[in-house]
Amino acid sequence: MTTPVSIHADRTAGRLEIEWADGHRTAFDAVALRWLCPCAYCRGEAGLPGWLDTAPTLTAEQTRLVDVHLIGSYAIAPSWADGHHTGYYPYALLRDRCPCPACAAGREPFPTRASEEAPA
Ligand SMILES: [Zn+2]
Ligand SMILES: [Zn+2]
Repeated sequence: MTTPVSIHADRTAGRLEIEWADGHRTAFDAVALRWLCPCAYCRGEAGLPGWLDTAPTLTAEQTRLVDVHLIGSYAIAPSWADGHHTGYYPYALLRDRCPCPACAAGREPFPTRASEEAPA
């Protein structure tokens, strides 16, 4: 399920599109993808916060996708216009964070809770 059959980086549109072995399609815009960067610098390590944890304002360069490399058969490494390229995004992460409505709904433990609650 977390095996991609095709990965397409549309640099002009700033989108990364993945088609999975089960037929599901995932599309990230570059900004969302940049925020997911799992590298030690962005995410922190050993309990220390990373750069993205400081809620920085990302520049256009920092969110411009320039290339995507395949890392073995388990991850991709996007390169960004600011030179950052050390984030290895495992396929399982990309599938887990799929922003499509079906997956987003699946991540909600109580998807109907908001509509059941009376307004405050
Ligand atoms: Zn990073
Ligand atoms: Zn999805």
